[in-house]
Amino acid sequence: MPKFSFDLHMHSCLSPCGSEDNTPGNLAGMCALAGLDIVALTDHNAVGNCGAFLRAAERYGLLALPGMELTSAEEAHIVCLFPGLAEAEEFGALVKGRLPPIKNKRDIYGPQILMDEDDNVLGEEDLFYAGATTVSAYEAAALAASCGGLAYPAHIDRPSFSLLANLGLWDPEMGFPLAEVSKNCPAGLFDRSDLKGVPHITACDAHYLDQIPDAHQSMELPERTPQAVLAWLKNGCKPLADWKL
Ligand SMILES: [Zn+2]
Ligand SMILES: [Zn+2]
Repeated sequence: MPKFSFDLHMHSCLSPCGSEDNTPGNLAGMCALAGLDIVALTDHNAVGNCGAFLRAAERYGLLALPGMELTSAEEAHIVCLFPGLAEAEEFGALVKGRLPPIKNKRDIYGPQILMDEDDNVLGEEDLFYAGATTVSAYEAAALAASCGGLAYPAHIDRPSFSLLANLGLWDPEMGFPLAEVSKNCPAGLFDRSDLKGVPHITACDAHYLDQIPDAHQSMELPERTPQAVLAWLKNGCKPLADWKL
């Protein structure tokens, strides 16, 4: 079965904390230079640049999944990935309705820029997207699944905005099939009794273009499609023995 390098967590200029250089086109180009085969765009609580990123990535021969980094009510970051743009946009609309009606203070937090695949500015989002939603960590997996997607907690080894830091432990009741860790994850984290056997991947969580590392991890897939990627993740980072589309 062929292996594909991947990184499934990065931010565009739609995230207020993301660099304005992280345009969909620049991001896709950097991912190609890094030797990645499969990537995902995961802006904070927003999917508005996913279409542009998918089209830009296609030009470079990459497979891109549309996604989001959801901020739960407990302020734990959760990566949500979808098989297609329609599903991601459905989820984006649900999450938008679960954000407080606060406007972005662009001078403090930075602008939230919408772009097309040629890096033309389409506008700016006014609603502040980077705060906590009312979606609890216990609801996130089911909410993503209701739109055909998959959710798992981001950078669980970090001391802030992480599931372990904010909720204290990994509870299987939350229904996450895997965890994401940062590149600085301490050796031995998964020796903890609550994390024993929890499948995990790493992600760059790039807010700047130079934070995209060279390809260093891969997934074995019967084919390079969003459905196969989601099935691999859902199956605990293993290919399904009886793969069927
Ligand atoms: Zn995060
Ligand atoms: Zn992130």
